[in-house]
Amino acid sequence: MTQIVHLNGKFLPIDQAFVPVLDRGFIFGDGVYEVIPVYSRHVFRLEEHLKRLQNSLDGIRLANPHSNEEWAALIRELVALNEGDDQYIYFHVTRGVAKRDHAFPKGVAPTVFMMSSPLATPPKELFEAGVSAVSAVDNRWDRCDIKAIALLPNVLLRQIAVDAGAVETILFRDGVLTEGAASNIFAVENGAILAPPKDNHMLPGITYDLVLELAAANGIPLQVGKFAEARIRAADELWLTSSTKEVLPITRFDGQPVGTGKPGAVFWKMHALYQDYKARVMRAPA
Ligand code: PMP
Repeated sequence: MTQIVHLNGKFLPIDQAFVPVLDRGFIFGDGVYEVIPVYSRHVFRLEEHLKRLQNSLDGIRLANPHSNEEWAALIRELVALNEGDDQYIYFHVTRGVAKRDHAFPKGVAPTVFMMSSPLATPPKELFEAGVSAVSAVDNRWDRCDIKAIALLPNVLLRQIAVDAGAVETILFRDGVLTEGAASNIFAVENGAILAPPKDNHMLPGITYDLVLELAAANGIPLQVGKFAEARIRAADELWLTSSTKEVLPITRFDGQPVGTGKPGAVFWKMHALYQDYKARVMRAPA
């Protein structure tokens, strides 16, 4: 079956969807995006994702082209038109098509693009082995809370990991943990989860929130704060989280084993809680 996408009010096959070259998304990376996982055709935390979208749009001073009800209807239709019970929806809004000029254009309609792709959750072997990560200085701007489509810094930072045969790059700004190039990062120290705060130096992950909720609901000690690089390097466990990768243990960091070099006890506890939540809530919301 052909992948069906949505572009400016129309549903059409992906190979028939085109954007003019003067779209400000293409010219300036002037837009914001969202990624929402869909489990068993249920859209996960739609309200939270739409709230984050609104924050991103506010951050770039772009009016939201749709009400939440309209977004919900578009997403539901896109899910229905595409194959597979597990999907992830990527959608973005740009400042539209206009003569190239940095200044905001007047009276221009934003571009809305949405697509669905198959969602493959990480295989069991990946949870058992863990993944490796490398470090880099977080050289991005200081509005990392905006989910901007201008991802060049993230692309370059993530490639550092790829070039080193690793999965993710863990970022430190002024010697303090921020997040990963495409994920949020947690550490575990003496049985307690350490999490960076949701400020302008990281993207507020929907999975990040879920991990915090599951920890709080199940009595796992949790500390939210600014953690120095040395403390992260000495941690017993490191995890990365994102909607598509779930919670993954990082077992090697800059070529050194993390803790024992195997996924830790707190990871396995969180993994069980996450999988239980997925089966109970994500796949069958009330
Ligand atoms: N930080 C960055 C920079 C990201 O790109 C992502 C998403 N890939 C995340 C964090 C995690 O966000 P979420 O849990 O909503 O997928």
